[in-house]
This record gives sequence, C-alpha cells and structure tokens, in this order.
Amino acid sequence: MASQVRTPNPRTQRGFIDYSLDKRATLLALFRGVVDACDADPYLMRAAKFHGEKAGRNCPVCKKDSLVELRYTFGDQLGQFSGRIKSPAELIEMEKEFGEFSVYIVEVCRECSWNHLCATYLLGDGTFRRPPRRQRTLEDDDFNGNLGK
Ligand SMILES: [Zn+2]
Repeated sequence: MASQVRTPNPRTQRGFIDYSLDKRATLLALFRGVVDACDADPYLMRAAKFHGEKAGRNCPVCKKDSLVELRYTFGDQLGQFSGRIKSPAELIEMEKEFGEFSVYIVEVCRECSWNHLCATYLLGDGTFRRPPRRQRTLEDDDFNGNLGK
C-alpha cells in the first residue's frame, strides 16, 4: 500500500510503533487551523534535501510528490554516532554490527515543510557490544578548529 511506511529491515526489526493515528489527529487539527505543523526548521529541511529518501507517497498537506523520509538512529551502543541519519542500505549493515538501536522515521515535505514522526522501531542482532571508541570526525574539526590532540 502506498500509504504504508516502508520498513526495509524485516530481519531483526522489533518494537515497531506506528504513529499514523497520531498523524491523522495532527492533520485534522492542521486543517482546522488549530496548529501549524509545517514548521520544519532549516536544519531539518537541509537534512531532507541531502539525506531524504523518496517516501513514495504524496504530502498529506500540499499533496505534492515532495515527501521524503529521514531515518534517525539512536542508541547507547552507537556511541558518538547516535543521532545520525542513515539510509535504508546503511541500516541493513548496522543491524549486523550493533546489538540494539532505535530508528525514528520522520517524514518531511520539501515543498511545504510538513514534518511528522511516522514510526519508530528497534534494530540489531541482540548481542550487546560496547560503544565504539570515540573517533575524530570532521565535525570535531568544524567545532574545535585544529587544536591538535
Ligand atoms: Zn507538502
């Protein structure tokens, strides 16, 4: 069905929570002019532009084919990489590398900025691993400048 959230990781996926009922309530409120849900901040819009995966369904607000999905990953075992956006292909790799982490699917419309949490679920092979050692990243360089060690 076109309206279903695609779940590309059926192997270890568990704890799936579908937020479509909540979304429907938000939509109803939006159409009544009660809330303004089209409030994606610039960071979210930029993430949608560069990392968004086509949702394969139209925006529920502006009806345009501009809806993309972002998959945020969170978990203690991800260490410093918790909170990163991952592609479906990367998630398939990650479910073999980590015991457990959460995936949050957020839909964002690149046309009208509608955004909403679609679903969350857990992935991972169930084997606990220590978080990866902290590595130096480009972001560190951006934030800290070149201070050496
Ligand atoms: Zn839209």
